[in-house]
Amino acid sequence: MKEIPILYNRKEDCCGCSACYVICPGEAIHMMEDEEGFEYPKVDEKMCIRCCLCIKVCPLKSEIS
Ligand code: SF4
Ligand code: SF4
Repeated sequence: MKEIPILYNRKEDCCGCSACYVICPGEAIHMMEDEEGFEYPKVDEKMCIRCCLCIKVCPLKSEIS
């Protein structure tokens, strides 16, 4: 089984647009609020079907095809 996708390593690599959350066909992504009230996606490993649509849709990862 492939690893679950890493949507961001640093918060600077995610603008919290929720596009990954919206596109996820497995409902595996939840937007979690951090201590400052900004929302970041979190992948539920058990729900993720490793389709990688979330990586493809992410505007900050457009360099990955
Ligand atoms: S790889 Fe697919 S199922 Fe897994 S979190 Fe991304 S969009 Fe959802
Ligand atoms: S699509 Fe990318 S920038 Fe938008 S919330 Fe998901 S990981 Fe963050």
